[in-house]
Amino acid sequence: MIPCDFVELAVAGVRALQPYQPGKPESELRREYGLSEIVKLASNENPLGPSPQALKAVRVYLEELHRYPDGNGFELKTAIAAYHKVSPATITLGNGSNDVLELVARTFLNPDHEAVFAEHAFAVYPLVTQAVGSRARVAAANRPDHSQPYGHDLAAMAELINPHTRVVFIANPNNPTGTWLGREELLTFLESVPDHVLVVIDEAYSEYVEEPDYPDTIAWLETFPNLIVTRTFSKAYGLAGLRVGYALSYPAVADLLNRVRQPFNVNSLALAAAAAALGDHEFVARSRALNRAGLHQLRTACDELGLSYLPSAGNFLCVHMGRPGREIFTALLAQGVIVRPVDNYGLPDYLRITVGTAAENEFMVDALRGVLHS
Ligand SMILES: *Cc1c(COP(=O)(O)O)cnc(C)c1O
Repeated sequence: MIPCDFVELAVAGVRALQPYQPGKPESELRREYGLSEIVKLASNENPLGPSPQALKAVRVYLEELHRYPDGNGFELKTAIAAYHKVSPATITLGNGSNDVLELVARTFLNPDHEAVFAEHAFAVYPLVTQAVGSRARVAAANRPDHSQPYGHDLAAMAELINPHTRVVFIANPNNPTGTWLGREELLTFLESVPDHVLVVIDEAYSEYVEEPDYPDTIAWLETFPNLIVTRTFSKAYGLAGLRVGYALSYPAVADLLNRVRQPFNVNSLALAAAAAALGDHEFVARSRALNRAGLHQLRTACDELGLSYLPSAGNFLCVHMGRPGREIFTALLAQGVIVRPVDNYGLPDYLRITVGTAAENEFMVDALRGVLHS
């Protein structure tokens, strides 16, 4: 039998979908180049590994793998509610926060609707918008001479909101730029958004942020019923491999997201690990301190190498290479260093470099110096 043209059978949004491009895995580079020492600074993972409290909790749950997870995630929700001083009814758990972003799209977007996000914003926003056949309205980013170059321009985003708009996606800080939004500008924006538009503020890197005017958006949830704040255990808590994140929102919104969610979208090990990690304040403090020192180390090295970089409130630095970033990326691979080209984000002359341990950062800088001087 001749296979049919399955592309024709796929729904319109999926037909034009470009798959998400993840960071190159270490094992792949090992296979391709036969290298022994490899430093991966490509996926904004925690260089300290997983939270030790989370590891302990996972070991206990290994014996229970024949059981389905708690579909309501009672213990994790209780821990999150206590941590943020919110009601458990505001929480939607996800298989990573990407899952929650997709739940928002599936709940509130259809082909008659539009989603608004910014140029150079996190790649999952266009993906989830397109997959449900909705239209993406992409706002121009800040100009290069702005204090947050290539960051979100909230005024430009507000201008794209119309009666068809249902969702606005904002990353704060944004990946891959690292740029962030302060309290006043974000509050002014929220006040200007009409009631029929849900505003998602994706705070995947919030635990790392040390800027004094970084907003406490969770405190705004009672004022803005259309606000959805997302968080993840993938970054500062070091649990990217387990896939667990969550949204906080008005309970009626959470109720809708939870209807769309698969019954067991978060696995039992992830539930146990996340609840334990949330209480591991020592680990998060250590991660934040390492990141602060690492950012300083990377910025100092870039200054010495004559490379400029975007302001970053996250655990990565977006560095201007002055030539196609992909060329440097490829040359660094041969040295056993994996970073992230961001040409697919409209930043062809930049590379995004995750902050590693002091030794990893040094290894990367030495390789980069060699590549730039060859
Ligand atoms: C890494 C990242 C996430 C986290 O995704 P998970 O699915 O929770 O691993 C979400 N948003 C942004 C902007 C990110 O960079």
